[in-house]
Amino acid sequence: MKAAPFAYVRPGTVADVVAELSQEGSKVIAGGQSLVPVLAMRLGRPAQLIDINAVRDLNGLALDRGALRVGATVRQRRMQREQIAAGVPLVRLALPWVGHREVRSRGTVCGSIAHADPSAELPAVAACLEATMVLTSQRGTRQVSAADFFTGALSTVAEPDELLSDVVFPVAKPGEGFGFGEFARRHGDFALAGVAVRVRTSEGSVDARLTCFGVSDVPVTVDVSQQLRAALEKTGSDPSRPDLQSALAAHTPGVAAVAVNTGGDSHASPGYRRRLISVLAAREVSRAYVSARLSESEERSR
Ligand SMILES: Cc1cc2nc3c(=O)[nH]c(=O)nc-3n(C[C@H](O)[C@H](O)[C@H](O)COP(=O)(O)OP(=O)(O)OC[C@H]3O[C@@H](n4cnc5c(N)ncnc54)[C@H](O)[C@@H]3O)c2cc1C
Repeated sequence: MKAAPFAYVRPGTVADVVAELSQEGSKVIAGGQSLVPVLAMRLGRPAQLIDINAVRDLNGLALDRGALRVGATVRQRRMQREQIAAGVPLVRLALPWVGHREVRSRGTVCGSIAHADPSAELPAVAACLEATMVLTSQRGTRQVSAADFFTGALSTVAEPDELLSDVVFPVAKPGEGFGFGEFARRHGDFALAGVAVRVRTSEGSVDARLTCFGVSDVPVTVDVSQQLRAALEKTGSDPSRPDLQSALAAHTPGVAAVAVNTGGDSHASPGYRRRLISVLAAREVSRAYVSARLSESEERSR
């Protein structure tokens, strides 16, 4: 099937993009990796496509007051390759799981977040890190936290005339560690279930945040600090001890029962997804804890 007819514009400034977006039936095209299949299958019939790739101001990747600001046309692959993005390790852990290299060479970070596929990696990373979305329209600019951004499958709080001009990720601080894991039938497929984890340790205190994806309409974030502390009480807090993952596994089925909120589909039942989340969470929370402790001790020895 071919796409239904549409008008195509390629403005050169953000002001022109948002002016075009205020026209009814308009849609942004960034990398086209999700939108083009939607058009080809006629699941969407926009009257006009606004190609944002000629706007130089949207191609920024810069550190700004302890955060990494990622502009709307920054490719996923650029985030994997440029040193500046190493300050946000969770994004770097997740990106190899996003499709294939060819997809990441065209697909944008902002496009993936704006598209809001419930099985996509980057929306979950944004939720786990408490990233900020910057929405720009002719009415001005507003900032929305990731926790409030995703409202359902393929749906967000962005209005039709708003451009996701940047996503702002906090740069990792000393004492923070991260974990990321997912299960898909073949590499490059969307995940049946996955987890993104951030653990913070500081002078004996510990907190842990787990975001699950592929298991609900939106990324689901659960505070698992209590579960991590209970596991550490059993094993001792020495990160070189190998039994933390097994101690955590006693607690993660309860977490999975809360996080998995799907009726199941032809790919996996809810029970199977709960099992996946339980196993992935135990593994990745323990991995994140080990790297948080390492980061804390490196900071102390400086
Ligand atoms: C074979 C294949 C495998 C894939 N596998 C995965 C995978 O495993 N995991 C995964 O997460 N993704 C996967 N993808 C999707 C890929 O990551 C896309 O790149 C991403 O979802 C969309 O980014 P894009 O820049 O291509 O956006 P586009 O396709 O250009 O746009 C997608 C949607 O977002 C809107 N949009 C885009 N940018 C903006 C913006 N700045 N402001 C407002 N709205 C905007 C568009 O209007 C459109 O509705 C796969 C794609 C393919 C083709």
